[in-house]
Amino acid sequence: MPKFLIVEDSSVILKILKHIAKQELPFEVLFASSMAQAKALYLEHKDELVAGLIDLALPDAPDGQLVDYLLEEGLPVVVLTGTSDGDTRETLLRKGVADYVIKETRFSYQYAIQMLHRLYKNRQVDVLVVEDSRAFRKFIVQLLNLHQYRVHEAEDGLQALEILHQQESIQLVITDYHMPQLDGFELVQAIRQQFERRHIAVIGLSGHDDHSLSVKFIKNGANDFLPKPFEQEEFFCRVTNNVEALESLQRLQHQATRDYLTGLYNRRYFTEEAEQQLAKSVAEERVVSLAMLDIDFFKKINDEYGHAAGDMVLQQIGETLQQGLGRFLVARTGGEEFSILLPGLDAEKAYGLMDGLRQGIAERIFDIPDDFLRLSVSIGVCTSVDGSGSLDQMIAVADDNLYRAKEAGRNLVVSDDGS
Ligand code: GH3
Ligand code: MG
Ligand code: MG
Ligand code: MG
Repeated sequence: MPKFLIVEDSSVILKILKHIAKQELPFEVLFASSMAQAKALYLEHKDELVAGLIDLALPDAPDGQLVDYLLEEGLPVVVLTGTSDGDTRETLLRKGVADYVIKETRFSYQYAIQMLHRLYKNRQVDVLVVEDSRAFRKFIVQLLNLHQYRVHEAEDGLQALEILHQQESIQLVITDYHMPQLDGFELVQAIRQQFERRHIAVIGLSGHDDHSLSVKFIKNGANDFLPKPFEQEEFFCRVTNNVEALESLQRLQHQATRDYLTGLYNRRYFTEEAEQQLAKSVAEERVVSLAMLDIDFFKKINDEYGHAAGDMVLQQIGETLQQGLGRFLVARTGGEEFSILLPGLDAEKAYGLMDGLRQGIAERIFDIPDDFLRLSVSIGVCTSVDGSGSLDQMIAVADDNLYRAKEAGRNLVVSDDGS
């Protein structure tokens, strides 16, 4: 399990830090109030430690010796300092700290701890640096490494596009303007055409004294720009802001497309996405099937065991569907009703897959508080041989077949050819 290290000798400040850490950090935090204590904790837990928030002046390390020690060991460090003079800042940045925070208000401590968390999250954030000057590219890469980002490099816009297509996880592009082959503006335009805006943020670097470059970057679709030369703090603020803006956008997107209870897609997303996949099947004249699954006598489960038990059953059905059919579009489209789009599966294959699912559910045991139960599902399938037919039509037929499965006694799959 990942862990954080926080070292501060003032008991008042340590108490504040403990309080904030408890609210903000998802993992265990090790606390120390001296270099000796911190070193012992470090040696014991160094394989799990993610980052440290370290007081610059400690009784047994008055001149930042603990900071030096941890940096040398390769631990990312955020420094807490009482002094805000320019010399201290220069020294700290030269040492290679991830950030420094001046002890002023409660907000400083809040910021410091959020920065620790950020350093952990950044390990999962891919950034692409596009810059033809090798020296400047390396400089930016080294800054990003300080903040634990996963960094990719490109020498020009063309190479950048290639890398973006290979590495779908890249979320942030930092790009120069003047480059051979494809310049910064052309790159931003291409990114906006080829990728969805919510997946990639772009920061343009405008190297010259020309302010119109910054304007043009934004007009061409960049989220932000950074005039060269820049202060390290400014660089990190812009990078962090853009990464966090993208994260909240993705969080909203997730909330808008998912069903809260099961984590499966919701009805709205299913309709939009199924329409698109169906259009593709029509264009390719490819067979496509659609299945609707409904739990048998679900009302009885609620009545007998309570609504919370019913919810647990729905979650377990959701997990089963996700595990077995996650490669398809699976959604909870009603209370105890689920829909699955099966592109490329003809009636026979769709029937086979759904009957396997039905059987698996009929044989398994569902956990509810202090008890367990068994249940069955009925499934209606509709198949369109050449992908023609609207989504509404397919849903109507699948629903009809589902009704027939219920009528015929439940725990059944009914597909178009009556099997
Ligand atoms: P059938 O075999 O004909 O499908 O019978 P059924 O009881 O499953 O069908 P019916 O449509 O009569 O009842 C569905 C029940 O599902 C009624 C409703 O209270 C319950 N339900 C819908 N959404 C939820 C939910 O989110 N949580 C729980 N616990 N129950 C839900
Ligand atoms: Mg101190
Ligand atoms: Mg039902
Ligand atoms: Mg129902």
